[in-house]
Amino acid sequence: MEKRKSLAAYAAENGCTYWIETYGCQMNAHDSERLAGILASVGFAPAEEMGQADLILFNTCCVRDNAEKKLFGNVGKLKQKKRQNKKLLVGVCGCMMQQADVAEKLADTFPFVNIIFGTHNMAALPEMLYAAIFLGERTLAVSDQEDLPDETPALRAKPPLSAVNIMQGCDNFCSYCIVPYVRGRERSRSSEEILREVRGLAKAGYQEVMLLGQNVNSYGKGLAENIDFAGLLERVAEETGMKRIRFMTSHPKDASQRMLDVMARHENICRQLHLPVQSGSSRILRLMNRRYTREDYLELIRRVRETLPGMTLSTDIIVGFPGETEEDYQDTLSLVREVRFDAAYTFVYSIRRGTRAAAMEGQIDEKEKQRRIVGLVDLQGQITYESNLAHVGRRELVLVEDESRRDAGHVCGRTDGGKMVNFPGEPSLIGQFMPVEITQAKKTTLYGRRIDGDTQA
Ligand code: SAM
Ligand code: SF4
Repeated sequence: MEKRKSLAAYAAENGCTYWIETYGCQMNAHDSERLAGILASVGFAPAEEMGQADLILFNTCCVRDNAEKKLFGNVGKLKQKKRQNKKLLVGVCGCMMQQADVAEKLADTFPFVNIIFGTHNMAALPEMLYAAIFLGERTLAVSDQEDLPDETPALRAKPPLSAVNIMQGCDNFCSYCIVPYVRGRERSRSSEEILREVRGLAKAGYQEVMLLGQNVNSYGKGLAENIDFAGLLERVAEETGMKRIRFMTSHPKDASQRMLDVMARHENICRQLHLPVQSGSSRILRLMNRRYTREDYLELIRRVRETLPGMTLSTDIIVGFPGETEEDYQDTLSLVREVRFDAAYTFVYSIRRGTRAAAMEGQIDEKEKQRRIVGLVDLQGQITYESNLAHVGRRELVLVEDESRRDAGHVCGRTDGGKMVNFPGEPSLIGQFMPVEITQAKKTTLYGRRIDGDTQA
């Protein structure tokens, strides 16, 4: 406590500011909001830009290997700045630093980095800052066990969008994936804590919440209360006053009919589902340890469409997994043709040290992986475009999020199904639900015009 006080006094006296550079998924983006909350609690304010900050923090990701090169490049660029400004503090944290060998390599390569810590050590950030500022000490904190979670409220982006973690970690051990090693075992938060947080957000003017977890469908395991994800979703829909609810990620093996029925019963749960398939070949799915077959997945999609017609469906797909033959790859393309996802995040398989797939025979060469990803991206691009075209002429309710970065005088927001729409409008519309007629479709975005005199809050 004393350290926090001294730190806050120092920050106030010196007008200390911070900049957080975030890599990776939405869970990382939300961790950055939690780090911002911790920094605010000890008097640090957000900087306008990285160049003006007194503390630069890199929140890293390690799901694919090119992230490491990119991070080392970006941290290296600060060497000169550190020479010119002795007071500048540099920190690196997040998933990549949870790998002790990478954290040590970073510490050795860049002696000017003051603070290095993993995902389990976020709560100790004020102590690490204290050590750096008052004692001139470097900290490298990477522990296997999570610190007591920090209860400091996250410092969130302005309304209308927000995210709430419902669980941490993952127990699935898909054979290609490093997440279970760096995020640890699955831990669900109590439903009361989650409901309290979502209610607070609704009161503070947030209109949409994204419930986050690596595998939201196994929510509740290990809790003293008797609750599953469908039960939690229903309570969030009924008891919080939140206008729109989304969630990710659903593992196909655990996505239950109960969850689909809850979605069908509640209008404030968005008609959008992210269901990563990873491969269209049952043989590769077995090697990936996904615990469903191509047929199981297609049957799930059939049930989704039957229960919730018009649902927007997205997925994740990996090409070039060890041993993937041309036939397996063609199975993936045919599944994509059959399901016709509205969007897909497509990845080239990337070797992650310590995972089971890294030691498998039949690693595919880079050129071949590239050929396969190009074919998949082309196919999905065409399907996404056709799915967008089908929206032209429709009327959609858009929650306005921001000014458009591309088109001056336009604002942007998402439909209930999660499609991004740009339309002419002023920034004062941000946070409002606007009825919009879709007039044009491009590859990734829809364009529309406001239907006047018909605003809903
Ligand atoms: N928990 C989520 C799930 O199971 O769908 C996804 C989490 S992961 C951070 C996001 C996506 O990254 C995965 O769905 C997968 O497609 C991709 N991914 C994970 N490990 C990968 C690897 N080693 N190489 C390429 N893509 C990978
Ligand atoms: Fe990784 Fe599989 Fe867990 Fe998703 S479910 S985080 S892909 S191990």
